[in-house]
Amino acid sequence: MNDVLLPWHKPYWQQLRQYVSQQRLPQALLITGKPGLGKKHLAQQFAASLLCTQPGENGLACGQCRDCRLVSAATHPDLIHLKRIEDKTSISVDQIRTLIAQTSLKPQFDGYRIILIDPADALNANAANAFLKYLEEPTERTLVVLLTAMPGKLPATITSRCQKLNLATPGRELACAWLKRQQPALDEQAAEKIVYLAKSAPLLALAFASNGVLAIHDDCFQAWLELANQKTHPVMVAEQWQKWADKPILSWFADWLVDLLKCRSKAPAQKLNNPHLYKSLSALSECPLNPRKVYILYDLVLENLRRQHTPINKQLMFEELLIHWARLNDN
Ligand SMILES: [Zn+2]
Repeated sequence: MNDVLLPWHKPYWQQLRQYVSQQRLPQALLITGKPGLGKKHLAQQFAASLLCTQPGENGLACGQCRDCRLVSAATHPDLIHLKRIEDKTSISVDQIRTLIAQTSLKPQFDGYRIILIDPADALNANAANAFLKYLEEPTERTLVVLLTAMPGKLPATITSRCQKLNLATPGRELACAWLKRQQPALDEQAAEKIVYLAKSAPLLALAFASNGVLAIHDDCFQAWLELANQKTHPVMVAEQWQKWADKPILSWFADWLVDLLKCRSKAPAQKLNNPHLYKSLSALSECPLNPRKVYILYDLVLENLRRQHTPINKQLMFEELLIHWARLNDN
């Protein structure tokens, strides 16, 4: 994929190319943007283009030279990828020490050396400190690229030393058009729904389309509606949902609640997170509904969203939220 520039990356690519053409490549580059925008893809493309000996007209790596072959085999000695070690939640200080030892000499080949840190927010406090010292004493011809969707989690002492590139979310039309090119079998309506679910992050939309996430979303929404109408039981629904706990069900839950309140205040369909749910949510918003209870439940969903990466019992979590939801209009 290194030879294809993602359409929403074009302005950023130009900016990166300018660093090279004007010979003012920063020592550290911080690429931010929400998940699904292809931060890693862009960083890898840029790394490959810096290492390539015969880059093409647009600066993209040729894919053929010795360096390109080493990059695609993930064995290039001057491309270092720093990430969490399996089963670990953070990047440790030992990993940074190894990196410093590894890069104390000049790059192995004549070109640049690139260090990708992904995700940079995984650096724990000690690792961040050690890394800061590394940034304070730069080694020659070395570019560090930090990737994160949560730049706020990085110490300001690090971010202030980085050139920043913040990837914006592309427009819905662009995301939709791109998704349909990747998945020609997808019909217009499904593509649009998926792009809404992915909040216009194209790579996330592609992952959703490839993994049948739309159908799972629609199933969850149906069960949620049935609960509101007392047609099913929270424990049964929770049992099904915990099997899909790797899907963003809590975010959907939060979005449905917001959309429900929007419908209640007569907002038009296109103002909803999920316009295709307008009809069902409008009908639901006609029922007697205590908005204060909806807000309380919404807060509870958000609280669980923040805890979702901790080892909590998903079945119990869903049960609690769904019992709240099913009882929303009990007095
Ligand atoms: Zn090449």
